[in-house]
Amino acid sequence: MAEQHDHTHEHDHEHGEAPAAPLKVVGEEPDLSKGTARPITVVGNPVLHHECKDVAAFDAGLSELIDDMFVSMYAAEGVGLAANQIGVDAKVFVYDCPDDEGVRHIGHVVNPVLEELPAGRRVLDDSNEGCLSVPTAYAELARPDFAAVTGQDKDGNPVRVEGTGFFARCLQHETDHLYGQLYIDRLSKRDRKDALRQMAEGTPKYATVPND
Ligand SMILES: [Zn+2]
Repeated sequence: MAEQHDHTHEHDHEHGEAPAAPLKVVGEEPDLSKGTARPITVVGNPVLHHECKDVAAFDAGLSELIDDMFVSMYAAEGVGLAANQIGVDAKVFVYDCPDDEGVRHIGHVVNPVLEELPAGRRVLDDSNEGCLSVPTAYAELARPDFAAVTGQDKDGNPVRVEGTGFFARCLQHETDHLYGQLYIDRLSKRDRKDALRQMAEGTPKYATVPND
């Protein structure tokens, strides 16, 4: 997912004075010396538009993929990245993303599955959303303000990650990617068209994979 747009979180800055306190961190900062930045696939590339394969091998190759994904995400100034966004057909995403409660979440999930929310827990938040694979475009999209994902870590151990606000949006956005869905696929026809127009008019600040 792309970094927050300027208008995303106006309600967090009610007073607009003191700089935000340093975020509490949940998770470990990755060792960036191990990975290589790869170019980002964009809407229209087939790898983004079908369900990715489940990961079955929890090996060195998976660790290397996760290292490359972190480096690629930071190079593109994203807050989340799915493997198919660097052209790899495998169910893995990484994130380094703040929630709405002052916590910075860092990690990865392999074979993620989004938990169904209990009916009473579904509160929609219609903040702005962007995607590294739809460069320079943003659109408002209503999503539940809480999300939980279960899956595995790179060693195959079960994990569960949950979050609120912007991080909940990230967890939903990245899981969607691995099932072949972009956020623009959830927009009205008109808003989708507008997002694609923004993309056509903008120039990404990071390397992308050209579509044929
Ligand atoms: Zn995305």
